[in-house]
Amino acid sequence: MNEEELWALLKKIIKNKEIREDINPDTLIKARKLLNKIKIDYITPTKVCFIVESDRKQHFVIYFFNSKKWWCDCEYFSLKLKDCSHITAIKIKLNK
Ligand SMILES: [Zn+2]
Repeated sequence: MNEEELWALLKKIIKNKEIREDINPDTLIKARKLLNKIKIDYITPTKVCFIVESDRKQHFVIYFFNSKKWWCDCEYFSLKLKDCSHITAIKIKLNK
């Protein structure tokens, strides 16, 4: 499968991809700038790992198929436990 086919598949199987209404506007602005900086790293039966390149730093975002939960290694996510710009960027891409 090529990258495009993988994205099409992920659009179908990822259930929790709605952008939350209470999202911070700055997070949304940042996320929109990251749309072409997202790569699929690997997929297993339980999760998919994405790499998002932001300001020359790489962030790893994981979506867990069973719990439908998102995780990111960035500071914003670890402090707030809310969708960061990296998770939001992937959600925007998945909703396109
Ligand atoms: Zn993040």
